[in-house]
Amino acid sequence: MLRYRCDLCHRDLDPEEDLRYVVKMEVYAAFDPMANDEESDDRNHLQEIQDILEQLDDDDSDQIGADVYRQLRYDLCPECHKKFVKNPLGREAAKLFNFSQN
Ligand SMILES: [Zn+2]
Repeated sequence: MLRYRCDLCHRDLDPEEDLRYVVKMEVYAAFDPMANDEESDDRNHLQEIQDILEQLDDDDSDQIGADVYRQLRYDLCPECHKKFVKNPLGREAAKLFNFSQN
């Protein structure tokens, strides 16, 4: 039986009792359409990236590919899901509460 673990707090998730949240992130280099001369509006940027990745079909290409395009997937427990939704980019929570530190 497939067991899941929260990728943030690393606790085991019980498939019978715990709700599991899946976070999928897609991170890719944004090519400025204005930088291309012609027919840039019709171009599918993801397709361009895939073309680049296919061209980089060497042994060394993994690192380069990860810089251009990366897909991430995380499993989260309900508690970590709440935290994630409040602060998806992991910005320091301290800054939000600075004003109330007196
Ligand atoms: Zn968790």
